[in-house]
Amino acid sequence: MRFFFMKNELPKIVFATNNAHKLEEARALAAGKMEILSLSDIDCHDDIPETADSLEGNALIKARWVKDKYGYDCFADDTGLMVDALGGAPGVYSARFAGPQCDASDNMALLLERLKGVADRKACFVTVIALSKNGEEHLFTGKVEGEIATEPHGAGGFGYDPVFIARESGLPFAEMSPEAKNAISHRGRAMRQLIDFLK
Ligand code: IMP
Repeated sequence: MRFFFMKNELPKIVFATNNAHKLEEARALAAGKMEILSLSDIDCHDDIPETADSLEGNALIKARWVKDKYGYDCFADDTGLMVDALGGAPGVYSARFAGPQCDASDNMALLLERLKGVADRKACFVTVIALSKNGEEHLFTGKVEGEIATEPHGAGGFGYDPVFIARESGLPFAEMSPEAKNAISHRGRAMRQLIDFLK
């Protein structure tokens, strides 16, 4: 479905997520340029499968799901934390690192446990955004380098933010303001490419 809008009304696009943190980050970057709708905004309460073995594959599954079943132009993201000393793990399995029922603290605890005594703590976050619009699909990738802390720091952000120290700031994401995180983060970088493309 194409979104039609009145003069001065912002174009709307669906972000295939209900993650409040991701929505907040994306909406801050898109402010004044486009209106971002969540899955609940379009009454989609499906448990969209993430069964691909790549970030690109999972992002495409989610964007296509919304486009095919609901008809809206849509973008979706998938993010992985790649840790050098773990051979790139947890990577595409970052959300389920400690098991399917586990939460962010379980994932961080397992990560810190696996890296106990390990000197090389280099890691990066990668986000792939898939856009499905007007019958076309496009991919945008953002990356941020950093290292894994030895213990969690800070109360901001979400997911692995308390243990990821961004190289450019020297601070854990969870200790950075939302604006500062967005300026250098994997998702911020991918989102800016998407916004430029849609302009
Ligand atoms: P997904 O893209 O929601 O599947 O994210 C995969 C995993 O990475 C989940 O455990 C998320 O909590 C985590 N994650 C995604 N984006 C971020 C981020 O910006 N900071 C910290 N963790 C993140």
